[in-house]
Amino acid sequence: MREESCIFCKIAAGEIPSKTLYEDEEFRVILDLGPATKGHALILPKDHYRDLFELPDEKAAKVMVLAKKMAAQMREKLHCDGFNLMQNNEEAAGQTVFHFHMHLIPRYNDDGQTIGWKPGKPGDAELEEIRKEVTGK
Ligand code: AMP
Ligand code: ZN
Repeated sequence: MREESCIFCKIAAGEIPSKTLYEDEEFRVILDLGPATKGHALILPKDHYRDLFELPDEKAAKVMVLAKKMAAQMREKLHCDGFNLMQNNEEAAGQTVFHFHMHLIPRYNDDGQTIGWKPGKPGDAELEEIRKEVTGK
């Protein structure tokens, strides 16, 4: 289950070299080539799924367990002060490589990065409207 033109399929399969932090039958964890901070890494499933919407539940569960394990290891070894997990789906959300991946981003008190958003100020009516829209109730 791979896609011929997909660079992350090739990296996950070991056909393109990468700085690998972890590998098993289903996943490879690599250092990001354009890191936000020291140690920024990516969890890649070895099978090709475009994004979260295509990822089977069983893989999704394993991604989170692996993310937790990697975060603990990186915190211990890199002495980071915090940690972001991030996962982008579709261009509107900043996805640039269309093979599911989870970002593991160690954070340091003085790293100078801003990973966030400008908070809105919705009123109660607006929040209630959205709640109804999503739940259908
Ligand atoms: P996203 O914007 O969520 O799709 O993230 C794609 C990430 O992949 C970016 O952080 C890139 O720096 C990273 N990236 C792209 N190509 C490579 C590559 N060949 N090896 C390692 N990281 C890569
Ligand atoms: Zn792929």
